[in-house]
Amino acid sequence: METFDAHYQSMRATTLKCMPGADMELIDRAVEYANAKHQHQKRKDGSPYIIHPLAVAEIVAEMGLDIDAILGALLHDCIEDTDASHDEIEKLFGTTVAELVEGVTKLTRANFETSEQAQMENLRKMFMAMSKDIRVVLIKIADRLHNMRTMQYQTPEKQVKKCRETMDIYAPLAHRLGMQKIKWELEDTSLRYLNPSEYNEIMAYLSAHQEQDEAFMRTIQNKITERLESVGIHGKVYGRIKHVYSIYRKMQSQGKSLDELYDLYAFRCIVDTIPDCYNVLGHVHDLFNLVPGRFKDYISTPKPNMYQSLHTTVIGKQGIPFEVQIRTWEMHETAEYGIAAHWKYKQGTGSGSEKDFEWVRRLLESQQDSDADEYIQSLKIDMFDDEVFVFTPKGRIVSLPAGSTPIDFAYAIHSGVGNSMVGAKVNNRITNIDATLKNGDIVEILTSKAAKGPSRDWLNICKSNQARTKIKQWFKREKREENVIHGRSSFESEMKRVGLPLSITIDPEVGPQLLKKLSFASWEDMYAAIGYGGLTALKAVGRIRDDINKALKVQANEKMQQSPLRLNPDSDGGKSNRHAVNGVIVEDIDSCMIKFAKCCTPVPGDAIVGFITKGFGVSIHRCDCPNAAGRDHPVQAARWVRVRWANQEEQPFETTLELDCITRDGLLLDVATTMTTAHVRVKELFGKDLPGGKSIFTVKFEVKNAAELDAIRNKLLNIRDVVGSKRGQN
Ligand code: MN
Repeated sequence: METFDAHYQSMRATTLKCMPGADMELIDRAVEYANAKHQHQKRKDGSPYIIHPLAVAEIVAEMGLDIDAILGALLHDCIEDTDASHDEIEKLFGTTVAELVEGVTKLTRANFETSEQAQMENLRKMFMAMSKDIRVVLIKIADRLHNMRTMQYQTPEKQVKKCRETMDIYAPLAHRLGMQKIKWELEDTSLRYLNPSEYNEIMAYLSAHQEQDEAFMRTIQNKITERLESVGIHGKVYGRIKHVYSIYRKMQSQGKSLDELYDLYAFRCIVDTIPDCYNVLGHVHDLFNLVPGRFKDYISTPKPNMYQSLHTTVIGKQGIPFEVQIRTWEMHETAEYGIAAHWKYKQGTGSGSEKDFEWVRRLLESQQDSDADEYIQSLKIDMFDDEVFVFTPKGRIVSLPAGSTPIDFAYAIHSGVGNSMVGAKVNNRITNIDATLKNGDIVEILTSKAAKGPSRDWLNICKSNQARTKIKQWFKREKREENVIHGRSSFESEMKRVGLPLSITIDPEVGPQLLKKLSFASWEDMYAAIGYGGLTALKAVGRIRDDINKALKVQANEKMQQSPLRLNPDSDGGKSNRHAVNGVIVEDIDSCMIKFAKCCTPVPGDAIVGFITKGFGVSIHRCDCPNAAGRDHPVQAARWVRVRWANQEEQPFETTLELDCITRDGLLLDVATTMTTAHVRVKELFGKDLPGGKSIFTVKFEVKNAAELDAIRNKLLNIRDVVGSKRGQN
């Protein structure tokens, strides 16, 4: 069993070593206080509880944190586990210490039961965003590290649960904060409980090869050291085996066994200056063969967690590849202790010579506001300034974009909650639904079945895309008619604003092209989209503006070109001797190109009307063609012209009939026979089977006029199993 005394002495010694000027009397008072509070509690192994806070305080001292952090570590479980209060600790040890303890207590109480990956990520961020003081997080990491070191006393279930949590939250957090050493220990210990067989296999392998490994590492170490001495570079070389978890991960990701895995060794050269780093790199590449593609310069480009080093992988005579990391002592300190390294300078009480801390000074001087607090603050802000973390009344954490409102929160919970929201409470007080949420707020949404749904203003208030999308969906679904009206008026006023004629949308040539450009099937659909907020009128008009201007220009040009063609009715005196083109006479225009519109394939006898197209003459539509429906519109009217069939000519016209049939063998032959006996010139004839025993036959043929067409249609309808017909598209 571990004793109070051993831990107490060890903690004192470490504190004195890392913090020579520390007020040991104050520390002793905290130990006494904590000991008294925890006196009736025991650790799982039966030892007195105080051993845990002592060990945590020692880890905190090793990290190089300050005296407040050590006091905080000694007292970290007092509020949670004993009758100690915030006020009492504040009175005895000051506000800062009380707040540190309070902060650690809050983190301890946070509910980590969930296994959802996303939730874990939120929690990890939560740690950072919630902690007003990063020392809270560092004490919590130290607390977890000691718990991991004493994990053997826990039940197997608890071991697995705690180790998962460590892998999910604490190891990544340590990594983020640049604390390599602690990260490795957390990972290795977790692996030991989460995957004991692999862990033991790796450990057994490493110990079986220990002598061999050490001999190898000594050889390389000596070789580099000799070279450094011979060229007069002052530095130290260390060799090590990579940590267990990283070996395990390599085996997993590369699918290799331990024997196949090379690259287990890592060497470090630590030198005085940055130019020395690059010098050493040159010598290493001179001594050994370079493995291409493995060189990384984290000195010129540090990792986000401040890590700096040169990395290279080389192969020696033995044919074993190994990694060499080259860095200065300053960089080394940062690599090992990460963010915690900054306290050493701030306190000015760290161990070692003045020179050891030169680097911190330089680092801080190179930043304009040379203050460690500010540095930490900016780090925190950089990481999380775009998010805010709030709670549901049941304690679930919800992450939202910074500046979010209760509306965003409601829709993050469920769209049903958002759509029936009538109000909100923040920290148990009724709040405006457009209030800005702060980290740690507890938000409750008040809903009612009688709620009328979201308001359009909410689209401008909410900050999250999720809320915006869900609100738009609601409008899309619930309010089509209203959306169309709303959208049309926005569209119309935007068109007016930029000086474009609204009539262009119903132009039979330009309109469909504009719709295509906008990717909508109809104008109503587009108005609806504007109405529910899926598209802004500004954007819609912007997208078609150039096209409209182009079309308007073309139309204006055509009008000018067409005017000479127009005959003056006074000088002509009649319309009877107009030239028929393709059997059609266009009134007011003597000769122009004529084409028959494919949408309605008019034949002589049909009531027809002409449309002056851009560059293709006049296209002839049946009067009942949907594309001719807009011809009374004032803007369109000028382009629609009166046309008539030239009666004297009976040229054949092509037209198409679609026959609805009940599927049967021989039907195609019957249709063909009917057409032949009627002396009709058939251009195309084909059938297509549809589901449900139906078929469609399409016949393209020549007729002289509408009367002949009707006669043929009747003959076709007389065929057994032909049940209907309609005029098709050519
Ligand atoms: Mn603890």
